Amino acid sequence: MDLRAFIRDIPDFPEPGIVFRDITPLLADAGALDAALEGLAAIARPLKPDVVIAAEARGFLLGAALARELGAGFVLARKPGKLPHDTTSAEYALEYGTDALEVHTDAIAPGSRVLVHDDLLATGGTAGALCALAEQLGGEVVGCAFLIELGFLPGRAALAPHAVHSLIVDA
Ligand code: 5GP
Repeated sequence: MDLRAFIRDIPDFPEPGIVFRDITPLLADAGALDAALEGLAAIARPLKPDVVIAAEARGFLLGAALARELGAGFVLARKPGKLPHDTTSAEYALEYGTDALEVHTDAIAPGSRVLVHDDLLATGGTAGALCALAEQLGGEVVGCAFLIELGFLPGRAALAPHAVHSLIVDA
């Protein structure tokens, strides 16, 4: 199935000059949703993750379903102040300034095999913070799996030496 056909390009969103990849048509189509999850699971299964970690909000959409598909657990990374228990935090760079993600400190057991997931890889800032959070808690990042990768941005290089796997690569 051509999953790219289910991704809608929205010019000038959220700001002029940006072409936003809208994944909602893929999510709304039963066959495309199933194929996307099957594709991600096929990538991730050989990596044998114990948990999948993903960031709010779009990372949760496929991330939790992928974890279920793999027989793995799911770890939520959220913006600061959203999680109720003890947290650890990782900062990452935005175009202007920084942002941060937090996870519960007991969400990843030391030595766990962690798969990083997001819907889209752009600069790699978000996924890099997920890798950092997993490693801060003693996890081993076994790879990063994305639905879409913007191949013209340096996200893949930013995540090195972690392996990057993407179902769709936009040139
Ligand atoms: P990065 O941190 O790699 O620069 O950006 C990736 C993050 O921004 C992901 O969490 C992703 O959800 C969001 N993102 C950035 N651009 C887009 C886009 O065009 N489409 C979608 N669906 N998400 C995007």
